[in-house]
Amino acid sequence: MCLTLPAKVVSVGKNGKAIISSGTKDLEISLGPVNDIEAGDWVLYTNEFLVKKIDEQDAREIFDLLASYPKPDYDNLEDKFKKVLESASRQTLTKSDLEYLFQLEDSALLQALYSEANITRKSNIKDHICIHGIIEFSNYCRNNCAYCGLRADNHEVKRYRMSPEEIVATAVQAVDRGYKILVLQSGEDLWFDEEKICQIIKDIKSKCRVFIYLSIGDRSFAEYEKFRQAGAGGVLYRFESSNEKLYAEMRPGHILSERINILKKLKEMGYVLATGSIIGLPGQTASDLANDVLLMKELDTFMPSFGPLIPSKNTPLAGESKVDFSMVLKMIAISRLVMPKSRISVTTAMETMRSTDGRQSAFMAGANSVMFNLTPAKYRDDYYIYENKFFDAGEKYEKWALFKGELSYQMMEKELNIEI
Ligand code: SAH
Ligand code: SF4
Repeated sequence: MCLTLPAKVVSVGKNGKAIISSGTKDLEISLGPVNDIEAGDWVLYTNEFLVKKIDEQDAREIFDLLASYPKPDYDNLEDKFKKVLESASRQTLTKSDLEYLFQLEDSALLQALYSEANITRKSNIKDHICIHGIIEFSNYCRNNCAYCGLRADNHEVKRYRMSPEEIVATAVQAVDRGYKILVLQSGEDLWFDEEKICQIIKDIKSKCRVFIYLSIGDRSFAEYEKFRQAGAGGVLYRFESSNEKLYAEMRPGHILSERINILKKLKEMGYVLATGSIIGLPGQTASDLANDVLLMKELDTFMPSFGPLIPSKNTPLAGESKVDFSMVLKMIAISRLVMPKSRISVTTAMETMRSTDGRQSAFMAGANSVMFNLTPAKYRDDYYIYENKFFDAGEKYEKWALFKGELSYQMMEKELNIEI
C-alpha cells in the first residue's frame, strides 16, 4: 500500500467532489469512499480520490516525514558536482561520476546530493511511500554467509519454524489490516520444500488479495517456476556485493555469476526484482559501491534493497567497524539518480543504525519504500540476523496508509504497474 498525502478541505461540492488544498495548490478531487467531511477538515488523498479523514496532528507528522532539504544554491557548488548533476538529469551518469559522488565528504555538497535525489523522487514518483509487511517464517539456514547471525554454524541461535498454517494466518491477518504487499522471508530452509511453499502461496492467495515477494534464497529454476505459477509475484534476493572476490569470501561455496544468472532468470520468469548489496563489507571500495548501483540498474531492479552491515556477534564479521551512515544516504541518493522511478527501500539495517531519524533521513535522500515486521512476537527476537534489530509495529502507518477496498487495489496496480 502507499502512504497517501494530507490536504485541507477547502469546500465540498454536490457533484461528489471536493476542493482540497495540498499546501502548494488547490485540487478538485473525487470524494471516493469519504462522505463525512466539511471545509477545514484534514484528509488523505491519492492522485484520484480522497481516502479518509485524519486529524491535523497526523497531517503535520506526515508533512514532516516528507520534508526536503532546501534546494541547493547551485551557483555556489563546485563545477564538477554541477556537471555530474547535469549528467544525472540526462541519465548519462558514468561509473566515474558515481565514484566521485561516493567519495564526497563536504557537508554542503552532500546535502545538495540528497536534495537533488529527493527532487528526482518527487518529480518521478511523487510522494508515494510504499508500505510492505515482512513475515520471517523460519530462521533455519543451511548457509554460512560471513555477515549473517542466522548462519548454520551459529549454534547460539534458537531455531524456529512457523507452521504453514501459522504463516497463512499471519498473512491473512495482515491483509485484513490493509497490507497489500507481503514479503515471506526465511533462511535457506529446505524443510519448506517446493510443495509446502506452493501450498502456502496458494492458500494465502485463495484467502486474500495480496502481492507476495519470496525471500528464501537459492532454489532451483524449476522450483521458482512452480512458486510463480502458485502466485508469487516478486523476489527479494540480494546479490550482496558486485565484487566477485568479496562475494566469494562472504558467501563460502557460492559464486557471484551464479547469483546474477539466477536474478536474470527470475526476471525472465516474470518476477518483480528487489535486490541490492550490503554497504560496509570489509575491503569494499567506492568503485565496488558504484558497481553495485550499476548492477541494480542493469538488472532492472524494481525495489533496490541495500543496507549497512551491522556486525553480528558469533559471525566472522563480529569485530568489523560500522560504516558511516552518510555512506548509506549516499547509496540511496545515487541509486535514486540512476534509477529515478524505482522503489528504494528503507531497510531494517538502516533503521537499526539510526533508530531515531534513520527512516526520515532516508526519505529525505530519495528512498520511498518501507517495511514493517509482522513476524509473530514469540519468534521475532530469534530472527537474529544481527543484534538489537530495529522494530516498529507500523501502527501510525497503518492509520495513514492502509485502507481497504477495490479502489485501493486499483490505485496500487496503477502506481506500481503490477498485478495483485
Ligand atoms: N536467506 C535469504 C533471505 C534472508 S537474509 C537470503 O540470504 O537471500 C536477508 C538479508 O539480510 C540478506 O540478503 C543480507 O543482505 C542481510 N543481512 C544478513 N546479515 C546482515 C548483517 N549482519 N548486516 C546487515 N544485513 C545483513
Ligand atoms: Fe542464510 Fe540468508 Fe543469512 Fe546467508 S544471509 S546465512 S542465506 S539467512
